[in-house]
Amino acid sequence: MLYAQVVLPLAQPMYSFSVDEALGVVEGDAVVVQFGPSRYYTGIVWSLSSERPSYPRIKPILKRLYSAPLLTPEAQRLWEWMAEYYMCSVGEVMRLALPSLAKPSATSLAALDERSIEPPMESFVALTPELRTEEALAAYAEQHSRRAPRRTAVMDRIAALAIERNASDGFVPRRLVDATAEQLADLRKRGLVLSEQRPVERSHSATEFLLPTLSEAQAHALAAIRKAHSDNKVALLHGVTGSGKTEIYVHLIADALAAGRDVVMLVPEIVITSQLIERLERIFEGRTTTYHSRLTALRRGQTFLRLALARGGELVVGVRSSLFLPVHRGALVIVDEEHDPSFKQSDMQPRYNARDMAVVMSKTHAAKVVLGSATPALESYLNALAGKYAYVELKERWGEGVLPEVIVSDTIRSVKRGERKTHFNFDLLNHISRSLAAGEQAILFQNRRGYAPYLQCRTCGYSPRCPHCNVTLTEHRATRRMECHYCGYTIERPQVCPNCETQDIATMGFGTEKVEEEISRLFPEARVDRLDGDTSTSERAFKQIVHRFESRETDILVGTQILTKGFDFAGVTTVGILNADNLLTTPDFRASERAFQLMMQVAGRAGRRNDRGRVVVQTSQPKHPVIQYVASGDYHAMARTELAEREAFGYPPYAHLIRLTLSNADYELLRHASHALAEAMRRKFGARVMGPVSAAREMLRGEHRSELMLKIESGASMSRARKLLREAIAVVAEAKEYKSVKIYVDVDAS
Ligand code: ADP
Ligand code: ZN
Repeated sequence: MLYAQVVLPLAQPMYSFSVDEALGVVEGDAVVVQFGPSRYYTGIVWSLSSERPSYPRIKPILKRLYSAPLLTPEAQRLWEWMAEYYMCSVGEVMRLALPSLAKPSATSLAALDERSIEPPMESFVALTPELRTEEALAAYAEQHSRRAPRRTAVMDRIAALAIERNASDGFVPRRLVDATAEQLADLRKRGLVLSEQRPVERSHSATEFLLPTLSEAQAHALAAIRKAHSDNKVALLHGVTGSGKTEIYVHLIADALAAGRDVVMLVPEIVITSQLIERLERIFEGRTTTYHSRLTALRRGQTFLRLALARGGELVVGVRSSLFLPVHRGALVIVDEEHDPSFKQSDMQPRYNARDMAVVMSKTHAAKVVLGSATPALESYLNALAGKYAYVELKERWGEGVLPEVIVSDTIRSVKRGERKTHFNFDLLNHISRSLAAGEQAILFQNRRGYAPYLQCRTCGYSPRCPHCNVTLTEHRATRRMECHYCGYTIERPQVCPNCETQDIATMGFGTEKVEEEISRLFPEARVDRLDGDTSTSERAFKQIVHRFESRETDILVGTQILTKGFDFAGVTTVGILNADNLLTTPDFRASERAFQLMMQVAGRAGRRNDRGRVVVQTSQPKHPVIQYVASGDYHAMARTELAEREAFGYPPYAHLIRLTLSNADYELLRHASHALAEAMRRKFGARVMGPVSAAREMLRGEHRSELMLKIESGASMSRARKLLREAIAVVAEAKEYKSVKIYVDVDAS
């Protein structure tokens, strides 16, 4: 008899089950077990042993689900690493990684039938049979090449490929034909070309791709990354916005696929990345799988299963959770925009950072890892300085693109001189006018959605707040409501002050909705659109806004930080940052770094095809060092100053921060529990413990929250720190009086 340790999707340790050898169960397999009197779970067999565990009753594994293990041994090591480092159970990793399998019922399994998994398809094209002889094609070319040179060139290319590849039926992969979708559609309509879908082949001969030709600087960067990988090093690709990092990734991806290796490309958000995905899909037709939270649990489960059954050569583009997909040893892992905060999951366990996990994969999976950014995270930059990562820099934009000129516009001075209308300094308005007059476009960035971040009564000073979260409610004109941006609570906009009943309520501050309204009034002839969480509630709405701006149906695009994420709009020559001050003043040790990254990223949307890009930064602190670094575009200077400061105060990357958040509806109980935990921790960690203090969100969804911070200097043993911390937490978690207090651990909190 064999015994299996099985992971269930629970915040609990693993359980043992007995295995009937006839089932043929192996490690990594998905199996069904009964747990509790009437619940059935899908679990993963973590290990097998012939030694009987010491419990009195051991239940059997009921069923083996698939013909191959769902997890590779590499993935098992990664999950274990993650559970240990982020202080959660492997079951919690499973719950996140396998949403469709994690439900406690056997019926959800019926939905995943491995026979129903369809192979990915790609399109093949051929000349119509009448044109397949050399004479016929030559005759056609003679007649048409003058009037339709592009069309005949495409046809020539198809004919040449068919000969070159010995295609007896004349069909060749569409991805090798250098033509746009419109051109091919036109050829089909004219009856000159046929097309059909065929399953993607993964043999080596099927992995030729039409790749972009690299500039000299790009080719150097590519060679440096390949070198890093052959030395088993992580590569940090620091390339300014528009330097063509994607083109370099494309070459690395092609290398990997041709060698039958898997590729995982992590991006901050999938919808925002649609431009990128289309580009990849054109090159690697039928081979790209996208993975993100907007897919149904079923779809994600199917993707997981398909990859588990595949033999390699898969290309996944997705958000942070793509990291859990079962890829093979030697995979290429690209983290694009590696500085982006969305790679860190902070709202539930495991509170992991996908960029850091990608680096772990260079060990568990012998993965070849590339971190790419125009504004690398200081953590990555320091690792590069220390020689831990290979540092690869691209300082110039590709082609004719030149980095934009940055104009710092002093808001206070503008007000004094009467050179400001509503929220716009004349500096900015002048540049917008210039762009519009030249038929070019403008982007306006404001880090807040809604109309006004709060209302205030001019008579009594009252502001409507969320009763559950204790933050001011944001006014939204479109819906005529006030909304809490933390929990979604809404009320109707009051017309009289709910406190003193006067009618003198003022809107304070400004969000994107107000910017849109004001700019439309100032430029009545311009077509203005807005891109933020309120206008892009669906993928479709989002794509339409982006498409309208891309095709120049709109002239000015107002938006939140969504705009900072990698867009490539050819027509933009003016970018306005409306209020840099609120980026500089967030109470967070990363504030300067984040402000710099955000501003550089929005700035990077200007002038991507020419030398006329300019960025106007409106601020009341024009001398602020971060503003100065943005003006000079000097990442290195920002990084040096900021690193010195972090080192002096013992912040990351010179230390690890572990945040403990406690929450309870009863404020007094919470206070006691927090002090008890602080005391237990101080006994072990002394002055490394900070707090307790009220959490940054002191109330959330009706619960009070408090926070403790633990600072572990780099170089100290993190595994020992975690062990001590677990013991300290147990003191409070196991005390009867604190039973109802929830404690969350966030390792490498930001
Ligand atoms: P980044 O991601 O570094 O900001 P992108 O990869 O988006 O830059 O490239 C910016 C623009 O320049 C894109 O439109 C891209 O197609 C173009 N480009 C960059 N390198 C090349 C190249 N080698 N060949 C053709 N086009 C390129
Ligand atoms: Zn709220």
